[in-house]
Parts: sequence; structure tokens; C-alpha cells
Amino acid sequence: MYVFKSIASLQNDLKQGNTNCKDLVVSSLASIEEKKHLNIFLETFNESALKQADLVDAKIKAGTAGRLAGVIVALKDNICYKNHKVSASSKILENFTSLYSSTVVERLLAEDAIIIGRTNCDEFAMGSSNENSAYGKVLNPLNEKTVPGGSSGGSAAAVAANLVHVALGSDTGGSIRQPASFCGVVGLKPTYGRVSRWGLIAYASSFDQIGPLTKTIDDAALVLEIIAGADEFDGTVSSKPVAEYAKNTTLNKKIKIAYIKDCLDNQALDSTIKSNINQTIEKLKKEGYTVDGVDFKELEYLVPTYYVLTTAEASSNLGRFGGVPYGYRSPNATDLESTFKKSRTEGFGKEVQRRIMLGTFVLSAGYYDAYYGKAQQVRRVVRDKTLAIFKEYDIIITPSTPGVAFEHGSKGADPIKMYLEDIYTVQANITGVPAISIPAGVNQNNMPFGLQLMARPFEEELLLATAKHISEF
Ligand code: GLN
Repeated sequence: MYVFKSIASLQNDLKQGNTNCKDLVVSSLASIEEKKHLNIFLETFNESALKQADLVDAKIKAGTAGRLAGVIVALKDNICYKNHKVSASSKILENFTSLYSSTVVERLLAEDAIIIGRTNCDEFAMGSSNENSAYGKVLNPLNEKTVPGGSSGGSAAAVAANLVHVALGSDTGGSIRQPASFCGVVGLKPTYGRVSRWGLIAYASSFDQIGPLTKTIDDAALVLEIIAGADEFDGTVSSKPVAEYAKNTTLNKKIKIAYIKDCLDNQALDSTIKSNINQTIEKLKKEGYTVDGVDFKELEYLVPTYYVLTTAEASSNLGRFGGVPYGYRSPNATDLESTFKKSRTEGFGKEVQRRIMLGTFVLSAGYYDAYYGKAQQVRRVVRDKTLAIFKEYDIIITPSTPGVAFEHGSKGADPIKMYLEDIYTVQANITGVPAISIPAGVNQNNMPFGLQLMARPFEEELLLATAKHISEF
């Protein structure tokens, strides 16, 4: 069986004839089947993947293949692919077929990637463990008793279990980086507005970004380069030119790095992760980089701000699912009102219902100023303070997650415990800055954890180069 190392070496092997797309698809489908019990894939797209493989094999022979020729990609089940099902892992969209492709899918296909299927996730991307899917939980391939993280848990697990070469996820508060940390892979959340959200099923529109989960930092750079950039279908996408991220992953300047003292002093932080990040800081200092601890007293406000704003946006976004234009319609409905009520009650899972209610509450006339308005103000303060750090420093370094993958069911009863999983990741979404989680080490049980880096808006190039430098320690 072909052993995938990186997209670059795969391109070489395809050119040399050491492997071909058809074999890659067949073996990926066989591995997915073999690992079915992990519940990573909701569906594989056998027919279209095999067809694309033949097409790309012909292009390779003709010497006209794109930069992602033969790269087997999994899509999180909230990214639309024309004529394929997409459900956001919700019963409310069961059997819904997408009428168009997301911009990211169009761009991957234009470079001859092969989309193999859709991966399980938390329903509507709400969760940190992948236990909130209407189609059952995902098992972490590194230890099946534990969660893969969420919400893009299926995507991270698919890369970790070597079922695919690359997966796309979406990150609203950490959903790419946290599962990347739990599964030992690279996860990149681009700057808000770097990648088009056209064709991404919305959770919280001012936070959501699509990004890659990969084995290597170079692969993340290449995928970002291909999916990023202006798009007439998404008014929030920046028209800033896209850098050649994949060519420039070498760090060639003495950057200044900040670590947030409050993040490392956090009681909840696992001691192995803490000592690992301290070692990284020491190594960087030894190499002559300026690395300073900075204060960020707003840390404790991040999670509350995130949950007020995202639930508000979710309650609005999910208003479109009412059993009328599309999606699940309750067979028990008798009139218009009961169609809405019953379809939503039966179609949405508990966590999604909780967030819709919370969001409706914080937006309601009597509480708007106290919650939604206040959280908007705090968002501005957090952004200002974060950008103030970036006036002096090029990169902020933090842990990706407070701990390693936890056991299934261990955080189930108390949603707040689960929400605190996001303590290090939400800052990047609240402020819109790019962030990456890279594998940093393993604990005594051999379970991986990540290191997170953040950079100024649209400085993905420096972010990736710094990440690569640190990963080579
Ligand atoms: N865990 C966070 C939440 O439940 C993040 C989700 C995400 O990034 N999609 O909202």
C-alpha cells in the first residue's frame, strides 16, 4: 500500500509512476471500510471519486495535472459539494443533496484533488468532542476510548488514521485546531475573510472559517494557497492577494514572540503541556529570538463572549430550518405552526436546541443590551488588546488545548466544562486573526497535544514559517 508522506512527495511519485490515482482511491476506500467502527465517515463518494481518479490519471499522463493531483480529500459534513449529500451531522438535513459546490470544493477540484467523502462532526459544528452528532460519536483512532475532539473530529481522525491525505474542517471557536491537537495532526484556521464561506453551512457567520487538517505544515500551506482568495459569492472575503504560502515556509527573520502568561498560569492546563511549551519558549530564546510573557487579563471573558455572540448568530442562521423549504419535516405536524415546532424539535439535537434558545434569549428585547450588546463591546476590547500585542510582537504562542483527548462521556453532563475546552482557541475567532495548531508532543499515555500560534491578520505566511521552524525542534 502506498505510504503518504506529503503532497510534494505524492506528486513526485505520481509523476514517476510509483502509484496512480485509481489505486489511491481504491486503497483509501478500503481503509475507510476497514476502520468503519471509528464512525469517521458518514458517506464515501465512491462513484465520483473513482471517476475523478481516472480523469486525473489521464491528466498526469498528459502532463497537465494540477497541484493537488491525486490528493485524497475528506470534507467535513458542513461543506457543500454539488449533487452530493450534506447534513451538518443533523437529522434536520438528513438526505439533503447539495445543489451547488462550495468555493473551496471548486478550487480543490480545479487543482485535481479527489474528494472521497464527508466526515462526521458535531451537529452544525457545535461541540468539542464529536459526541453531538445525530449519526453517533467518532472514536479517536489513537485511543478509541477517547474523543477525537470537535467539531471537525471526523476530519482530524480521517487524517490521523491515514484514511485520507487532507481533510477540510471549519473553525468557529477552535473546531479545526482542537481536534488537530487531540489527533496529532496540523490544523489551520485562516484569518477571517481569507477563505470563502460560500457553501459552508453557517453556524456563526462572523466567526466561521474553513481550513485544512493535514499531516504536514507544507501541506497546510499549499491547501490554503489553493482555497484562499477573493470570491464574488462571499462579500466578507478579502481581495488581498494570496501569497505563495507553500513556497515560503522558511523562517528567515528574527521575529518577536509573545506568550500569554495567563494562559500558562491557568489551573486547568495539563502539566505535561505546560512544561512542553516552556521548553519551546526556552529553545526559541536560546536561538536568539525575543520571547516575552505578556498579560492578557481578558482571558476569562473569552469563552463567555464567544458563547453569547455565536449562539446569537446561530439562532438567526438556523432559523432557515423549519421543515418548509427543505430538510426534515415532521410527519406529526398538522398545521403551519406545528410544522415549525415539531420539525425543529424532532430535527435538531439537544445541544443545537440549547444554543438556539440561548441565542434567542441574548437577542431578546429585554436582554439585548445586557448580553449581546455587551459581548459586542467585549469583542472589540479583546480585538484591540490582541492587536496591541501584535504591535510589538509578530507571533503569539499558547497551548492549543488545556488537556489531551478525554474519554467519551466524561464531560457530558455539564456543558460549561465542555465550553472551557475552547479557552485557548476562541481568541483567534473573536479577533479574526489566523491560528494554527501543530503537534507538539505526547503525554505519558502517548496521547498527542498541540501548540498554537497566532499571527496578525493575513500574515499566514509568517505563521506557517514559524510553525515549521518550531516543528523542526
Ligand atoms: N467548541 C466550540 C463550540 O462548540 C467550537 C466549535 C467550532 O469551532 N465550530 O462552539
